[in-house]
Amino acid sequence: MEWGKLVHAISEAMTANADHLNALDAQLGDGDHGTSVAAAFRAAAERATSLGNAADGEILKAAALALMNSSGGSSGALYGSLFLRASTVAPSVASVTTAGIAAMMQAGLDAVVQRGGAHPGDKTMVDALQPAVEVLKAAAKAQELPAYALKMAAQAAHDGAQATAHMTAKHGRAKFIGERSLGHVDAGAQSIAVMFDAIARYWKENIHD
Ligand code: ADP
Ligand code: MG
Repeated sequence: MEWGKLVHAISEAMTANADHLNALDAQLGDGDHGTSVAAAFRAAAERATSLGNAADGEILKAAALALMNSSGGSSGALYGSLFLRASTVAPSVASVTTAGIAAMMQAGLDAVVQRGGAHPGDKTMVDALQPAVEVLKAAAKAQELPAYALKMAAQAAHDGAQATAHMTAKHGRAKFIGERSLGHVDAGAQSIAVMFDAIARYWKENIHD
């Protein structure tokens, strides 16, 4: 598994969606989410690909630290936590299976919840990440192949992001506008959906399992 190339694929997707993510964040926060995640993943991809064929866990850890250091926004710290915890699970996954991906993403979700204190329904990135993790775990149980599992997880992340429009924000800058956050999709939940789209596409095009 070439984690550096995968992080690069996520970076390209965040860049392509940066304007849309900024527009979503402009409704609820300060309008910088797309710019922040695009810059953070660009830095992470540069760092990860520069490590060549280092161990899987080392590459993901380096990417995680780059995400954390890239910008002042909450999302860099949260995405960094996700990748850092996932990196501790990656080395034990000899060849990447659906169960392995599910374990990494569950670890990442746990880290985001610990760091940010948000729970499902609070209108954050957790509302896209958590349903995607549930789908991955169910797919692992059903012995689905990663490419299919990731496609279903991406759909769950999109549905989860859309559902944030019906939630009132409890964290981050959006918390300050309270009820007025209703009707708008959370930018961080949408960027999680963009990330899963990129991972699913990368798998389909590059990994033949
Ligand atoms: P900032 O709010 O610092 O400008 P960003 O705009 O990059 O950072 O990211 C905002 C996104 O971060 C929100 O849309 C939300 O999904 C996510 N977020 C903010 N606070 C939390 C939290 N405590 N837990 C989980 N996600 C959070
Ligand atoms: Mg913002």
